[in-house]
Amino acid sequence: MSTAKQIRNDFIDFFKSKDHEFVPSSPIVPIGDETLLFANAGMNQFKDIFLGLVPTDYRRVANSQKCLRVSGKHNDLEEVGKDTYHHTFFEMLGNWSFDDYFKAEAIQWAWELLTDVWGIEPDRLWVTVFGGDHTEGLPEDEEAANLWTKVTPIPTDRVLSCGKKDNFWEMGETGPCGPCSEIHIDLGPEMCDMKNVPGHKCRVNAGCARYIELWNLVFIQFNRLGDGKLVPLSAKYVDTGAGLERITAVLQNKKSNYDTDLFMPIINCTSDITGHKYTSKLGNETDNAFRVIADHIRSLVFAMTDGAIPSNEGRGYVIRRILRRASRFGRELGMHEPFIYKLVPVVVDCLGDAFGEIRERADYVSTVIESEEVSFGRTLDRGIEIFNAAAGRAQKSINKIINGEDAFRLYDTYGFPLDLTQLMANERGLKVDTAKFDELMEEQKQRARLAGTAKITISVSGKLSGTSLPVTEDTHKYDTDNCDSKLIGWLDEEGFHDQGQIQTDAEVGIILDRTCFYAEAGGQVGDCGIIKSENGKFVVEDTTKIANCIIHQGKVVEGSFSIGQNVKAIVSKDRAATKKNHTATHLLQWALQQVLGKSVAQQGSYVGPDYLRFDFTYPKALTAKESKKVEDLVREKIASDLPLTCVVMPRAEAEKLGAMALFGEKYGNEVRVVAVGAANEKLLEEAFSREFCGGTHCDNTGQIGGFKIIKEESISAGVRRITALTGTGLNACLEKASDIVDELSAILKVPSEALVERVSQLIKDNKKLSKELRSAAKASGSDVMAEAKQLLQKCEKISDTSIIVGRLQNTRIEQAREAIDMLKKKAKSAAIVLGFEDDDKATLLAGITNDLIKKGLKAGDIVKAIAPIIDGGGGGRPQMAQAGGKNPKKINDALKEATELIKEKLVS
Ligand code: ATP
Ligand code: MG
Repeated sequence: MSTAKQIRNDFIDFFKSKDHEFVPSSPIVPIGDETLLFANAGMNQFKDIFLGLVPTDYRRVANSQKCLRVSGKHNDLEEVGKDTYHHTFFEMLGNWSFDDYFKAEAIQWAWELLTDVWGIEPDRLWVTVFGGDHTEGLPEDEEAANLWTKVTPIPTDRVLSCGKKDNFWEMGETGPCGPCSEIHIDLGPEMCDMKNVPGHKCRVNAGCARYIELWNLVFIQFNRLGDGKLVPLSAKYVDTGAGLERITAVLQNKKSNYDTDLFMPIINCTSDITGHKYTSKLGNETDNAFRVIADHIRSLVFAMTDGAIPSNEGRGYVIRRILRRASRFGRELGMHEPFIYKLVPVVVDCLGDAFGEIRERADYVSTVIESEEVSFGRTLDRGIEIFNAAAGRAQKSINKIINGEDAFRLYDTYGFPLDLTQLMANERGLKVDTAKFDELMEEQKQRARLAGTAKITISVSGKLSGTSLPVTEDTHKYDTDNCDSKLIGWLDEEGFHDQGQIQTDAEVGIILDRTCFYAEAGGQVGDCGIIKSENGKFVVEDTTKIANCIIHQGKVVEGSFSIGQNVKAIVSKDRAATKKNHTATHLLQWALQQVLGKSVAQQGSYVGPDYLRFDFTYPKALTAKESKKVEDLVREKIASDLPLTCVVMPRAEAEKLGAMALFGEKYGNEVRVVAVGAANEKLLEEAFSREFCGGTHCDNTGQIGGFKIIKEESISAGVRRITALTGTGLNACLEKASDIVDELSAILKVPSEALVERVSQLIKDNKKLSKELRSAAKASGSDVMAEAKQLLQKCEKISDTSIIVGRLQNTRIEQAREAIDMLKKKAKSAAIVLGFEDDDKATLLAGITNDLIKKGLKAGDIVKAIAPIIDGGGGGRPQMAQAGGKNPKKINDALKEATELIKEKLVS
């Protein structure tokens, strides 16, 4: 039995014996070709020759090209492991003729190599040739069809004519192109993997695994111009591609590429590492994991060797995705530790002789893979849990879609590439809301852009090393929203300034000797507001802190400011809303602990003027009842209008009081405690909530003015997030909701109490109508076909040609076109003209079979001749043409004229 290495050599040697020159594979990462992420076919490196951009020294070439099909036009990632013959990385054996030999030799040699040299039984082979495409005006490849039976012993009935999809190759929208001829092998009826598909018949290109394509012979003979026209090329090329892995499986008598010596060593090594056994079964999850890993490690080794580095963009991201996908499949084999990198040496053993470069870079490649595995491994298990929860929710939903937020979180926090989430979803029969995912991705990018401009502190902090910033006295933030201060410095891109002037329009961070602005901390956002001087106005957009220096970030909108000037700092009214949300957050934490128990611990929070968000540890979603209970408790405390007291005290004392601290947070010796329900410092014991907190708060709970949870969700394994509204935000939200209700009431003309019933009824009606519409469309479609068949039955014939002319009732253009296709097939030789009325307009369609076109009868000509009768115009190709007109009353006249025309042509 030949090894893969021998088979590769056989191929090269065979073509050398036919005067071909061996040319090494081009790198899998194309050099200087930004249009292509990875080499995906042997022709890539010869592209410029085909395009006529560079002259060629070659006449005949053979090689084995490293290909990767994981992106763009060719993406076989989804098939990997599920079938036994599509890989991401594979070798494409090829032979080329650059304006030298053409179809005859290419066909003859392919056959000779497969059957004589390799001894494949000829009666297992089938071939396809291009059958033409009338919609595109592409002629059938009769030349190839004739050659197959002439230069090889293959019987005519195993030379099949196929369509454009499989048998016409184009480099792009324009440029070199031509028909191809594929060689398929019949692996036997037992290999069919579509036995359960109703109506499935095993045959070439029917999608089942019984017939697989081994070799594709492309004959580049046309050039497609900008206007879509094809012109013959002066130089003709042969470009062939045969999958080494598939041929090896056939020659080694294996049912699966993975059972060959190209993959088994990798699979065996995986088995040794994981302790699982490979049984070569399709549809078996463990076996599938083996196959995916064996496939992916080959891609990784080759792509990284040729320069792709895992990253978050472009090629690098494709590589990262492949690796993460392999890691995920490793979990199926019980692997929670990095192990994929250990397979690198086996890949090198298998392929290092043919591709020496992978041997040279093996150490580097395995180091990179290992470090990627380590970093992804940290989040993978938690990600899988989160995925499972999201999938569980999707399973329960009507549309079986994993929501975009979940997919985005998996991507953003857990490094799950979208296609990994999609793959996992697929396995469970679920889909992913990618539109929402894309939207969130875009939002994130926008945020990143904004953050880049507003946060001066971040950009300058690097320039501040060695500068000692002034200390701002900021205790006023707790008791007032405006204060008199002095401007003592500012920050801009260049760093800290304590002299000079700030001009109009300058975007800087102002530093005052004292301030009442709250700098972002503990989840509470930094204050906004204005700083005013005698002749200047500065809008504060955010307030932050570096060490003990408070920075008011924003822009001079009027006048200018100078160091030493007296100013007034005025905090925006938003602060009041922020206070309400902050105090409510404390009530919420307390209420959650009452309802869910003491295991609830704060993980993080956001407190702004618009809403509040509270993240806490809890293993599962809150029930509707629990949520309601939490809301009720908070509202009760608001209604009781209880006082708050904030005290700074030694940490030990605060701890003794049982005040809650944020886990993992570092506190100084002095801490501030916010106690809700205590009227003064002496009554701290009476408070029901005591928290370490530096934020700004209401004086009493009544000021909060209302509370509502608007969302409860999970943000990572064991962490929940509640989003809620109070006072101002809540009012706005209620007002909006009430406006919507009013609007709906008006549109639907029912009082608001009846809205739910009305909408439910509408949905029901809509479903019913859609169903009726669908069945009506189906019925009319089959009516049209039946009408057309009747026309065929009673049509006139001239020798073998049917003249099918008539009217259709209630049809539409698509259906009429289908009818013409059907008639052409049924009648074999036919001239067809159909007319119908739709929406007060007349339409005429003509279709002519190819045999008649040769006799000079063309659909376009007929339509052009009869269109004026219906007050219209039209045209088209010889095979199919169409006209529209304003006068449906004249359809019959036009059809009569058409009959005459056809007869004239046929008898002349
Ligand atoms: P298929 O229809 O089987 O996907 P294809 O039409 O995409 O094949 P071509 O682009 O013509 O294949 O590539 C030429 C040859 O390369 C094929 O005949 C086949 O032997 C091999 N080949 C193509 N894709 C793969 C793949 N993903 N894995 C392994 N071999 C492949
Ligand atoms: Mg393919």
